[in-house]
Amino acid sequence: MLFFILVSDVHAEEKNEDEEKMALYKKTEAVTLVPWYYLAAIDKYEKNTTKEKSEKLITIDIPETKWYGIGNPSRTNDDRIISLFKGIGKDGNGDNLADPDNNEDVLFTMANYLKKFGRTEQDIKIGLWRFYHRDLTVQTIMNMAKVYQTFGTLDLNNRSFPLPLHANYSYKNTWGDARGFGGRRIHEGTDIFANYGVPVKATTYGVVEIKGWNRFGGWRIGIRDMNNNYHYYAHLNGYKDGIEVGDVVKPGDIIGSVGATGYGPPGTSGKFPPHLHYGMYKDNGYSEWSFDPYPYLKRWERADKHK
Ligand SMILES: [Zn+2]
Repeated sequence: MLFFILVSDVHAEEKNEDEEKMALYKKTEAVTLVPWYYLAAIDKYEKNTTKEKSEKLITIDIPETKWYGIGNPSRTNDDRIISLFKGIGKDGNGDNLADPDNNEDVLFTMANYLKKFGRTEQDIKIGLWRFYHRDLTVQTIMNMAKVYQTFGTLDLNNRSFPLPLHANYSYKNTWGDARGFGGRRIHEGTDIFANYGVPVKATTYGVVEIKGWNRFGGWRIGIRDMNNNYHYYAHLNGYKDGIEVGDVVKPGDIIGSVGATGYGPPGTSGKFPPHLHYGMYKDNGYSEWSFDPYPYLKRWERADKHK
């Protein structure tokens, strides 16, 4: 019983935090006209990739040399001195201080920085590139912004098992097995065996990042979620009509169907029993690595039973 109380407490706290954050994003949008969903996406991306656990509500970290200006010997938060040294730090809450530890100042500073590049999606992209200098980071933030914009909320925590529970399927924990279909040297993922044509569903909110043929994976699709995890669905029989790279998905959306494609040139099929190969990869802002999806699949399967 205590367990349930604690869990619901955590959820209530998350909800309040989301509301507080949304209020800050919207306030910043009102004064800078930079849409809230870009600020939300940058903040979430930084939270996903930051090494230290922070108590701060807003996680965006602006390097000191950018904030105070190169060659500024002082670390005073006086916004006039900062602008004298061409630092980007700005005062967002009207106290004449540009404080890198103040949530409103940080959001206002980020929004002002982006605004300089212009208003279109392309302009924002250029601004992000100038700030992060990494293609995957820019693309991920743009995609996350699209998801926030589509659903209009920060609460995107629902998940779904990738197959309908009423279908005949089976899977076991094969993490790291030497042999597998569609993995690499070791088996990076879980194989869920099912019949040809069983619908495959998105497990999370996210954006389609990759779609097409891969020599080992066959017809596969890759979706990046809001926690910077990349979900890889391989050996598909086919795709849902019209699904394309850049599309926004939510948990439970059908993206394709189970098949046995792969291990040869485009179209090769039937070299192994039909199954969904499901892989998960984490990105920390520098590099990507795979981790075991099995415990997550178990959890989502259990949760779907109670839906
Ligand atoms: Zn596999």
